[in-house]
Amino acid sequence: MTAKTFRFFREDLCTRCGDCFAACPYLELPPEEAKSEISSLIDGGSSLALEVCNTCHTCDALCPENAGPYELVLERWSKRDQGLPTTARLVTPSEPCNIWSSLKALMPADELSLLHSWDDFSPCDEICLTGFYTSVVPYILQSKVLKGLPKIVGSEALFGCAGDIYKTGSFTMVEQITRRLEKLFKEMGVKKVVASMSAEGMVLSEILPRRFGAKFAFEVEALETWLLRRLQEEKIKPLESLDLTVTVHDNCLSKMQEGRLQEINRKIVRRLGCEIIEPRHTRERSLCCGFGAAAAHYRVIDIMASGYRRLKELEETGADAAVIYCPACLFILTLIKVVAGSSLPLYHPVELVEMAAGEKPLQRHERRAWDMIAIISNHLLKCAASPAYRRPFKPAYIAPEITPLPELPRGDRRRTKALAAFYHSPLVQNRLVRALISFFFKRIVSSYDTRRKRRLGLKLESTPEHPFHQPG
Ligand code: SF4
Ligand code: SF4
Repeated sequence: MTAKTFRFFREDLCTRCGDCFAACPYLELPPEEAKSEISSLIDGGSSLALEVCNTCHTCDALCPENAGPYELVLERWSKRDQGLPTTARLVTPSEPCNIWSSLKALMPADELSLLHSWDDFSPCDEICLTGFYTSVVPYILQSKVLKGLPKIVGSEALFGCAGDIYKTGSFTMVEQITRRLEKLFKEMGVKKVVASMSAEGMVLSEILPRRFGAKFAFEVEALETWLLRRLQEEKIKPLESLDLTVTVHDNCLSKMQEGRLQEINRKIVRRLGCEIIEPRHTRERSLCCGFGAAAAHYRVIDIMASGYRRLKELEETGADAAVIYCPACLFILTLIKVVAGSSLPLYHPVELVEMAAGEKPLQRHERRAWDMIAIISNHLLKCAASPAYRRPFKPAYIAPEITPLPELPRGDRRRTKALAAFYHSPLVQNRLVRALISFFFKRIVSSYDTRRKRRLGLKLESTPEHPFHQPG
């Protein structure tokens, strides 16, 4: 049987003007080179975009013809047929050592009990869907300011509504997940979904119905839209004005629907008495948190380099704090923050609302970031020890019925716990070791990124304040 061909790019609309790749914050090509780049990509030739795309959606948002140039990158990636590199085991729930099963070995009892309570797919009209990465920081949904939310439901068995997988161009898997979601929501009789991860809400309302023929009979609302409405209706009453300057990080999928979600998040923070200082790349030109940088080659170092670039931009605003409304971006940028030794406070909008309502957010982000470093360390140890584990793999078929996910093997559980205990201990959590980690992290990612850009013939950053600026 031949593989199905997916065609999402609208070649009939494209004028080959090159505006997309001239605006791409990772290519920044001069106009003539941008025109050749898009032509080469359309004609199946070599392309820099295939090497450096961070899946940020800027080109789609800025294409004057709505042709979908990013989808052209995805189409080419979708033809990669060598299996997924081993790093992808971390974000594939059907693999035993994925981040969700590993984290359950490290989570406190209150979070485990939350996750357990959310794993209930009995019939229900209205639900709040947890989200792939809300499950990494589940304590955010424990907040009292979310009283009144519909029943919270979800698990990693939904594969994040295929959002991550779509971004790698693994379209066959996206189709399988779409069929699973259709069946589940139909059986549950869901009529409304409040998406705790608004990016997943965008996948449910835009990507799966328009590109994969999903038949969903429910409306989707982002958690932030729900939150803003509660504030406007005074069902949540802030006790005080926060009086902070904040910078806002916009995620890739927030660039869809004319950036409506970006404005909703800004309305929330302004309502709480915060002044916004925009970062250099913002709204439809926002940089990726770093996560999308792995889509091209599945390299952790690409996530680190790209995430560090974003974190530096947020720091350079001089704001008191950064607001990050996507839980995936929040988790990645916190990971970068702890290894880079940054002191910029990072908040989810729910946490800002909590603060304004006189509550103290649980803010376990940094602890969770060290947990995640333990999980990644275990993965790297396994790669070093086992040639079989290092090999690319084919993800298991995702059936329409939800099937039980594999348990974390006992050896991995023990090792992950021991590594986490080490990272949380005073042996690592002291000023000297943290300063050394930060120093080596910055040196490694800066030199990696500079070498990579030179190899690809890309522009080195020209502003002196940029982390990758290399004098001389
Ligand atoms: S995809 Fe859009 S921006 Fe890019 S060349 Fe075609 S028309 Fe121009
Ligand atoms: S999605 Fe972003 S990184 Fe990828 S080609 Fe488009 S603008 Fe560039």
